Amino acid sequence: MNREGRGATAPGAISNSAPATFTGNRALDLEEGLLFEIGRTEVTGVDLDEPDAFALRLGGLERTAPLGLPGLSEPEAMRHYVRLSRMNYGIDSGLFPLGSCTMKHNPRLNERMARLSGFADLHPLQPVSTVQGALGLIDELCRWLLELTGMAAVAFTPKAGAHGELCGMMAIKAALAARGDARSVVLVPESAHGTNPATAALLGYEVRSIPARADGTVDPESVKAALSPEVAALMLTNPNTCGLFERNVVEIAAAVHEAGAYFYADGANFNAILGKVRIGDLGVDAMHINLHKTFSTPHGGGGPGAGPVVLSPALAPFAPLPAVVADADGLRLVETTDAPETAQALGRMCAFHGQMGMFVRALSWMLSHGADGMRQASEDAVLSANYIRASLMDLMSAPFATRPAMHEALFDDAWLEGTGLTTLDVAKALIDEGYHPMTVYFPLVVHGAMLIEPTESESKASLDLFIAALRDLALAAKAGDMARFQGAPYYAPRRRLDETRAARAPVLRWTAPAPVPRAAE
Ligand SMILES: *Cc1c(COP(=O)(O)O)cnc(C)c1O
Repeated sequence: MNREGRGATAPGAISNSAPATFTGNRALDLEEGLLFEIGRTEVTGVDLDEPDAFALRLGGLERTAPLGLPGLSEPEAMRHYVRLSRMNYGIDSGLFPLGSCTMKHNPRLNERMARLSGFADLHPLQPVSTVQGALGLIDELCRWLLELTGMAAVAFTPKAGAHGELCGMMAIKAALAARGDARSVVLVPESAHGTNPATAALLGYEVRSIPARADGTVDPESVKAALSPEVAALMLTNPNTCGLFERNVVEIAAAVHEAGAYFYADGANFNAILGKVRIGDLGVDAMHINLHKTFSTPHGGGGPGAGPVVLSPALAPFAPLPAVVADADGLRLVETTDAPETAQALGRMCAFHGQMGMFVRALSWMLSHGADGMRQASEDAVLSANYIRASLMDLMSAPFATRPAMHEALFDDAWLEGTGLTTLDVAKALIDEGYHPMTVYFPLVVHGAMLIEPTESESKASLDLFIAALRDLALAAKAGDMARFQGAPYYAPRRRLDETRAARAPVLRWTAPAPVPRAAE
């Protein structure tokens, strides 16, 4: 690892460029190898007695060679993970402006609640009489989700947004099958998240794209032109991924229903309208809610998540199993289609009941905010995004800026024209400034997109520093300071990686390096 200092050195001053260190460490910035490099097969962190003599019952399938997994002592293991964690960036280290991800603060109260042993130490196969509190929590969370959306039912088991999309679209498919209507096409606007067309394709639908209007929203006339008896559903994100509220959504929903199709809404951007709009009033039939975005949960890096789906009266009978039902004996989970309430259930989305820890965090967030607090959270999230957009618009180009932004500020790369720099260069330079980059090159409808979502949990001081850093970068780009961008990141544990090669030819298996030949003494 070799990083050079950046600023020019004044004559007589101490050089800025740091000397190489023997260990490769740089003070608090510590190098760390892989477990396979630093571990040893003969070491383990636990000291177990040799087992007494016993008879193997594996029918000759027992392992004959050692497993060969490296081990570490407990202090070594502790250091390994602490050192790795210091190379990471998280919402607890700084502003995380990743658009479409709603990286907000995770209140410690939620974490405390999720760790209560009455929730955390349950086994999914425990008798229902012993988990009444947990079932009550799921029921209460569903009630809040229905209240916030004005819908009829909640499918709570999906484990991510994409999984929720699958669930909602499966409900649509089941509803169509129940009326003997085999439709084969799903309409998806150009600006959609990639999971929308992927979900439709996974269920065997042909995906047809709806172009965006010049103002970044969907034209009801284009939807009407694309509708036919072949169309099963429209999948629309609102507010959309350009950060704009789809103003014609009611007209679009009516047209979709008129054509006998269903209206799926991608609710990942719910944070912008929480407590302001009930999507049931807009004619939505199904919408997933990313609990791990809107209602806080430590996320990123692929999990954990929870993507419950709210369903309209038309789709409610098809909600997946299990269902929480109350009767004279208390709450119970209905696990089969024998009961009248679940006779048309579409099956299961996963084993058991979904992500209990996320349910606890989400309800804790809702209860601690209350109705007024949730409304304020979304208002503040929208205000923060508009503040960022308004503060940068003189230096960076913001498409569709004649309309107020919702919870995200979208920029394109027109402002970089003539500088020789790209969106990626700006993102990398932002790392040196101590920020996780914004979402880049998404949505696809905007050239060189930079999508910034500050959320409501940043203070004005934090927004101001972020804006100032981006303004400084924009001025440097326009002044032709190529080195600041093209070599970036200078100060991250790793420099610029070949991301294309990493995606196209990933090295997923560690192989021991060839032994270094020793010179004869
Ligand atoms: C995050 C997101 C999804 C997918 O959610 P996951 O939990 O990552 O599967 C879908 N659509 C939009 C608009 C999103 O932002």
